[in-house]
Amino acid sequence: MEKMIITVGVTGSRITRKQTPYIPILPEEIAASGIEAWRAGASILHIHVRDPKTGLGTQDISLFKEVVDRIRSETDAILCLTTSGIPGRNLPIQERLQPLALNPELVSFDAGSVNLNENVFLNPPEFLEALAKETLERGIKPELEVFDTGMVYTCIRYLERGLLKKPLHFQFVLGTVGGMPATAKSLLYMTEIIPEGSTWSVIGTGAGQLPMAVLAMVMGGHVRVGLEDNIYYSKGVLAKSNAELVERVVRIAKEYGREIATPDEARKILNLKP
Ligand code: ZN
Repeated sequence: MEKMIITVGVTGSRITRKQTPYIPILPEEIAASGIEAWRAGASILHIHVRDPKTGLGTQDISLFKEVVDRIRSETDAILCLTTSGIPGRNLPIQERLQPLALNPELVSFDAGSVNLNENVFLNPPEFLEALAKETLERGIKPELEVFDTGMVYTCIRYLERGLLKKPLHFQFVLGTVGGMPATAKSLLYMTEIIPEGSTWSVIGTGAGQLPMAVLAMVMGGHVRVGLEDNIYYSKGVLAKSNAELVERVVRIAKEYGREIATPDEARKILNLKP
């Protein structure tokens, strides 16, 4: 079986210090937490940044640059910068595209709109087309975050129109309020409908994180863990760091016999530009 790529969602845009004191907020905290997770075995760092004043997500390029520079100077990690802003608050398109200017190897591409609690996470066609075009121009690979089956077909239509290029890389997001549940059936179905030759990884949110990671490990997929998607280590026990969540998946993979991909091995698996 192919080596397993571990991605870590370092902070996201919404988790507050009230929910967990361990969520990184300041640029130096986000970078340090990502670097620690890379040391633990994560080869891809999925990065959001937070406004130091409000603590909420922002697409501020100067904050992204600070985090990216720190991580690039200390690691060979693959960077996947977010284009989502704050899901449900729906920042202007041009703001959401700002991190592409830092030429990361991956950016997130949320392939459709979805209800998240009381809000709608808007990803209208004009946003997706602008994002797809800029990734093509810059040679950045979009990581296709799909919350539901229809979003997979959206990606297939974009592929047919030439706005996405094979091989596609999917990140299944399972367990959000308005998306597909984090179940074995959901995951199996998603893996069956993606175009041949695609790679895939899975995010199980909340209590779904570990079960989805273990399933992906056995099925030959890749996994994402981290505080963005789940703040607990076990029922009622907060995870103390991103590294702690990565270390557990590494331990299970070792016992199971699935090797972990280094960043360079992940680059080959995902067909990233050298
Ligand atoms: Zn994210």
